[in-house]
Amino acid sequence: MAKRSDLTSRPNRRTRRQILAESDTCILCGHNGADAVDHIIPVARGGTEDPDNKAPIHGTKGCRTCGRKCNSEKGDRPLPEVKLVTSRDWYTK
Ligand SMILES: [Zn+2]
Ligand SMILES: [Zn+2]
Repeated sequence: MAKRSDLTSRPNRRTRRQILAESDTCILCGHNGADAVDHIIPVARGGTEDPDNKAPIHGTKGCRTCGRKCNSEKGDRPLPEVKLVTSRDWYTK
């Protein structure tokens, strides 16, 4: 009886707006201007729909500072995994 659509639907709009209102600092690249919200731990990996599991991230428009499209780079991987893989790019010049 689980509503499968709940697992794949877009983030709740009100939650997303609240999260972005509190902070627009992207969890992936650390720059501000994030316009989307993503799960820190994807629901498919056991994450929840709780606002604590959601954070600002750059969406389809990408980051104006570094140009990355963080949400597409992150994909459906958990944030710690993505940061592990990509942290060199963020902090090394
Ligand atoms: Zn970003
Ligand atoms: Zn950036």
